[in-house]
Formats: sequence, structure tokens, C-alpha cells
Amino acid sequence: MTLETLVENPSIPEESTSALSTPYDPTDFDANVMTTYGRFPIALERGEGCRVWDTSGRDYLDFVAGIATCTLGHAHPALIETVTQQIKTLHHVSNLYYIPQQGELAKWIVQHSCADRVFFCNSGAEANEGAIKLARKYAHTVLEIDKPVILTAKASFHGRTLATITATGQPKYQKHFNPLVPGFAYIPYNDIQAVEEAVTELDEGDQRVAAIMLEPLQGEGGVRPGELDYFLRVRKICDETGILLILDEVQVGMGRTGKYWGYENLGIEPDIFTSAKGLAGGIPIGAMMCKTFCNVFEPGDHASTFGGNPFACAAALSVAQTLEREHILHNVQERGEQLRTRLRAIAHRYPNLVSEVRGWGLINGMELNADIDLTAIDVVKAAMDQGLLLVPAGPKVVRFVPPLIVSAEEVEEAVQVVERAIATLSA
Ligand SMILES: *Cc1c(COP(=O)(O)O)cnc(C)c1O
Repeated sequence: MTLETLVENPSIPEESTSALSTPYDPTDFDANVMTTYGRFPIALERGEGCRVWDTSGRDYLDFVAGIATCTLGHAHPALIETVTQQIKTLHHVSNLYYIPQQGELAKWIVQHSCADRVFFCNSGAEANEGAIKLARKYAHTVLEIDKPVILTAKASFHGRTLATITATGQPKYQKHFNPLVPGFAYIPYNDIQAVEEAVTELDEGDQRVAAIMLEPLQGEGGVRPGELDYFLRVRKICDETGILLILDEVQVGMGRTGKYWGYENLGIEPDIFTSAKGLAGGIPIGAMMCKTFCNVFEPGDHASTFGGNPFACAAALSVAQTLEREHILHNVQERGEQLRTRLRAIAHRYPNLVSEVRGWGLINGMELNADIDLTAIDVVKAAMDQGLLLVPAGPKVVRFVPPLIVSAEEVEEAVQVVERAIATLSA
């Protein structure tokens, strides 16, 4: 093989030197790793852009992106360059010292959002824990509430730690883990009357609602966008009562909806919000943002050993700068429109199978008809057989969260696979 053909086909040498070129044998894995996930019988070995390859060399179009995480796709040159340089220079130091990359990333977030201050950690659940602690301290020290309650929505998802499964309004995540954390109450999503009633009913003795915590669009709960009027009125209730509005932007933040932050789709600003998944394009990071008036943490109140280290912050800064430099939000809006239009055409052709297509930017859901046996996992498996990776969001919703750099051709390819999968399943 000539050098020219190698350069033209960068995948060839990697494939031929791959240690694994057979289907993955999961025996050792299953014997040693806890069984906390149901897994598909493949192992992904390599990725480039929106495509990934499994150990037997088969390629897939990746519309999962590590669950809304790999915003720049796989092996993006800017991310490779940044993390390579950073790990050669300095990858981790304690927050006992100033970390310039952390300061720069915080400055970028403050300049590109409604936030005044940022705290860094490592995951979505940890960011939400920080938000819950900040809201509770604000309740005790400013609002003077002895027993603060945080309202969260049914069908929400806020993470897997004890406080965040409590915040998560879905009993299936809480089962067998009681006693849960006190101080949470649940309301149906997009229902303003329920908010008004809960705020009144929970005002009893030392107890009062201190914060309302919501996703701008419910991700895991079935890709349900927040309604404009609902969020405007929640904001108004918070303004009138002093209740804090916390938005969980872990899945929708950092460009996924075609705007940097999900709340920009709703015409309001939160007092506190969190981000994680896509923030550093797949390098672990979490962040909790707040406005000045509720910035009540003092030294010793909260911490994270890894939080905000030079490596993760340099990666996130590189993602942020790439989104800006390459006008990727514009692509998110256009590809999102294209995807919804094409999926709605499928829904139109198979009204007995598909009931609705909804979403913002590049977080979209295809809901299957409630009256039939077909589940989201059936569609996910059928699509996987045809070379497309998708992920369910609940039992009946198929979720589409590709890298934000996805091309028009790749969206078209994905839609054609979905159409074939639906056609096969309808037969
Ligand atoms: C994924 C997710 C979380 C949890 O994030 P982890 O990084 O897994 O802890 C929290 N909230 C929302 C909305 C999410 O989508």
C-alpha cells in the first residue's frame, strides 16, 4: 500500500493493526463488572466524527453520542490537540491553588449565560447535588425557612445519588433505596395550577417551598419540551415569593437545543442551573451556575477533588470555542429541523405505529403509539441491526441525540434506517 492511499484512508492501518477484530466476548466483563446496565452485545472500539466501529469492524452511525455527550463527535481534531497538550503540561492539581483553565472556562460560561458564578464538579448528579445544597443554604440563611422543600416534576430525571434520585420524580429509580432524602415534593410537569397549589399547601409551620427544580425539556422522561407559558408563570411565582428557580440543564445545556442553554428556548432565566453531559464533549465534567444574589457558599461549604481540574476545563473550553468558531449552533438548528421534518413524514406514513415527533435542536424524540405492543427498545434494536445507534427515553420514546456536528447527509442516512426499521417492525 502506498503512503498516499494510507493518508486517504486513515481507517485502514488502524483496522489492520486492531488487537480485536472479532466480536467481543463478554464473559470476563460479566464476571467482574456489576450488573447495573442492560447492555447490547457489541463493544465499540473506535470512532470518527458521527461514526463508530465495533470490535468486529462493523460501523454504525452514532445518534447516541454517549447519551447527548460527545457534542463534537469522536476524535475531533480540536479536542485531541487540546487534551494532548494539557496532559503533557499539567492534568490535575488541587483547588487549593488557582487553576487558570478553570477561571477561563468560568469566564466563558458567565459571558455566554445568565450566570454570575460557577462551581465545577464531575457529573450531572454532582452538579445537581451542589444546586440542592446551595438552595438549602439560601433557604436557611436568607429566606429563613427551617424546613425547606424543593419541588420537582414527575417524570423528571436528576441523577443517581441519594439526593438526586429523591429529586427524580420517578418511583422506579427510588425503589429499594429508602429512606430517601427529606425535603422534596413532586408536581406534574407543564401544569402551572399544580405549582400554585403545592406552594400554598406546603406552607405550613416551619415548612415552606424554597426552590422549584425543573428540566427545560425533560430528557430521560421522554423528550418533553417545557411549555413557554408554564415557565413564564413559574418564573413569576418565584419572583413574587422569593422561591429559587433551579434548572437542570445537564442534558440540554451547552448547545444541544440549538442555543447554548435550554432556558433560552423559554424566554426566562433561572437563578441556579446545572450542566454536565456535553459540556466537555465527553470528558467528565459538571458545573453549577448561580446568580450573585444566591451565591451564598463560603469557603468550606462545598468541594470536589477532581472538580475543575486543568484537563477537564481545557477540554470544555476547547468545545466552547469550537462551537463558536465553527458556528455549530446554526448546524444544530438546521439539522434538528431536517430531522423532525423527515421523522414526521415517517410518522405520517405509519400513524398506527408512531404517535408524535418532538424536540428542540438536536434532542428529539419519536413517541410510539401507546395502544400497540411495540416499544422503543424494539425500534432501537431494529435500527442497530441496520447500522444506526439510538437510545430510548422511557418505554415508548426513541431518542435522537447525535453529535452537534452531524451533517445533512448523516441525518438523511439515519432517517432512512429508521424508515426501514419501522417498515420491518410494521410487517
Ligand atoms: C444525565 C442526567 C443527569 C445525571 O448526570 P450524570 O452525569 O449521569 O450524573 C442529571 N440530570 C439530567 C437532566 C440528565 O439528563
